[in-house]
Amino acid sequence: MSTFKAPKGTYDLLPPDSAVYLAVREAIAAPARAAGYGYVETPGFENVELFARGVGESTDIVTKEMYAFETKGGDKLALRPEGTASVLRAALEGNLHKSGNLPVKLWYSGSYYRYERPQKGRYRHFSQVGAEAIGMEDPALDAELIILADQAYRSLGLRKFRILLNSLGDAECRPVYRDALQGFLRGLDLDEETRRRIEINPLRVLDDKRPEVQKQLTGAPVLRDYLCDACKAYHEEVRALLTAAGVVYEDDERLVRGLDYYTRTTFEFVHDGLGSQSAVGGGGRYDGLSEMIGGPALPSVGWALGVDRTVLALEAEGVALDLPAATSVYAVPLGEEARRTLFGLVTELRRAGVAADFAYGARGLKGAMKSAHRSGARYALVAGERDLADGVVQLKDMESGEQQAVALAEVVDRLRTAR
Ligand code: AMP
Repeated sequence: MSTFKAPKGTYDLLPPDSAVYLAVREAIAAPARAAGYGYVETPGFENVELFARGVGESTDIVTKEMYAFETKGGDKLALRPEGTASVLRAALEGNLHKSGNLPVKLWYSGSYYRYERPQKGRYRHFSQVGAEAIGMEDPALDAELIILADQAYRSLGLRKFRILLNSLGDAECRPVYRDALQGFLRGLDLDEETRRRIEINPLRVLDDKRPEVQKQLTGAPVLRDYLCDACKAYHEEVRALLTAAGVVYEDDERLVRGLDYYTRTTFEFVHDGLGSQSAVGGGGRYDGLSEMIGGPALPSVGWALGVDRTVLALEAEGVALDLPAATSVYAVPLGEEARRTLFGLVTELRRAGVAADFAYGARGLKGAMKSAHRSGARYALVAGERDLADGVVQLKDMESGEQQAVALAEVVDRLRTAR
């Protein structure tokens, strides 16, 4: 071990477990890709102002959790704490919204950074896969995204997750509700910081997890009673489309989420096997975000699903992914001449698209066969001097244990289909 360790709140992905993460990322992205979402990649850092304006000056993410820094050149940057603001910034900068082809549907996958108190399921560096549909107000898009996330989790074999759904209203009805809520909250017995929050972002007080706060919130005005007719109709349509798709959800009027930009539809995927960090993914509509970061009005909706927590959810449910072995053929040479011949064969196999590996170093047959087994390869190719003199190699089926001599010239053709 070196003197260095991974920084607090981070961990490394190493084989063999890393294969599970890769598979989870792919599985989450697959339904979105098949639904017309194109891949977008943005820098790991942005101007800090993008997040301050986009995510919200009053959110924990911006005030407490952002890795913000100034460069030697004086630029004020921040490691990205979330994906939506960056993706929208990139879409605007690339003029994707002007292509006349709305909505702009994008998916992404990457690392995100929040200076949080680390615990199981909560890290300072974590991984998300996200999808955004930009520039269109259509309840079918909100429904589509929720259905795609549901499909992703199901394809992984997850069952014990629930979908929480709410509407946060829009620029017309939310302010009316906000006033009513502020009136109610100001009458409660709350600490200084929470009192400040009432004035900046009262909806987030509803999100306060402390029991002494939650206890006082009984009887608080609920947004549902304040939704304008347009928001109500929109939300009903989202719900109807989900129900028609057979996607089960729970109405959760307390669901406000920790980012300021959400309007109308908000949703969260929670997993019941994860303890306190139960949210595996979340998202919603953010009709005002584009204007908040200086763009034109572009009503949009999206989600981000956490890869780390999805892996934990798989563990909690005892789901083992059926991952194919990375190596199909493992070559074991006995002697110098065999090394050269088999190394050449391995190269040929790889070029033919067969995943092949090789017993490097001067190892005995026993040790090399152990590595062959460990690789998960279905076949081993073994050759010694006598085999080469006969122009053959021994092809061993690692499952049945059967072994047969195959002419050197025929090996690649024989194994081309062995994947
Ligand atoms: P959020 O934007 O906070 O709703 O995050 C979306 C998803 O990212 C969450 O549901 C989590 O699965 C994941 N996530 C957010 N923060 C963390 C963190 N600190 N550590 C691990 N996963 C996280």
